[in-house]
Amino acid sequence: MRLILLGPPGAGKGTQAQLLVERHGLVQLSTGDMLRAAVKAETPVGLKARDIMARGELVPDEVVVAIIADRIEQDDAKKGFILDGFPRTVPQAEALDRLLKDKGLRLDAVVELKVNEGMLLQRVESRIAQMKARGEQVRADDNAEALAKRLDAYRAQTAPLIDYYGDRRALATVDGMLPIDEVAVAIDRVLTATAGSNGSKPARKPAAAGKAPRKAAKTAKKAARRAVPARKKAAKAAKQASKGSRKAAARKAGKAKKGASAKGGTARRSAKGTVKRRAARKPMKSRVKRPRRLTKRR
Ligand code: AMP
Repeated sequence: MRLILLGPPGAGKGTQAQLLVERHGLVQLSTGDMLRAAVKAETPVGLKARDIMARGELVPDEVVVAIIADRIEQDDAKKGFILDGFPRTVPQAEALDRLLKDKGLRLDAVVELKVNEGMLLQRVESRIAQMKARGEQVRADDNAEALAKRLDAYRAQTAPLIDYYGDRRALATVDGMLPIDEVAVAIDRVLTATAGSNGSKPARKPAAAGKAPRKAAKTAKKAARRAVPARKKAAKAAKQASKGSRKAAARKAGKAKKGASAKGGTARRSAKGTVKRRAARKPMKSRVKRPRRLTKRR
């Protein structure tokens, strides 16, 4: 399974990627994590990326493409991987397409975590508070100014990927505002739908998680509409049966006077019998005696 998680900073890509690692045994390839490790280790890439990242801007395409090209070659990525934070631009997506094509691999799904941008700042702030509470070092780009820049970069350079993958029928959209476990369930649903498609075919567009319930509701409405005549029929039959049972009960009451038992079971059987008899008598309309003609036919 090869999957891309797409979404603005703070959408929960990292959290969902970790859950997917636990549940599906895939590896998480986060370019952000790799770049941060490079910055920490002060490698040439790290030294190049450090200031760009701190400003909330994107590292040049060729740098991240080279990192990913190396990483997907490694053994642990052979079974499948989750790309978290890559691709972030259309040229990166095109480079990934070429990389996968050269290796005879295909992308199974691109999941967009759709979030309300107004909530992102709150999320990032709560993440910072949690990290501080755990005594962890806060990211250099986890501040209001850098976040605004990262959001600008997302809108201008990454959001076009929604159309890029949408046009290739590989995109599924999940409501990223739901609680973490519900987002995970929605992503799993996408993966199940994707796994159902033929391995040799390109990934088909899985149903957006928000759309499936709407479709189900529509079908249920249709079924309910179809059920109306049946309900009317059943109500009519019940009315007739209760009419019959009232008559039967009255008859039974008469019989009871003569010493016959009028217990529930008997009454029910009688009611049934009455309905049956009424049904049997119905076609006998022709036998109803016509009033005698009083005048002669001319
Ligand atoms: P992230 O941890 O995914 O939010 O990434 C943190 C920072 O790393 C971003 O703001 C960028 O500066 C850089 N970065 C991560 N992934 C990419 C990428 N695919 N392309 C360019 N820059 C990236």
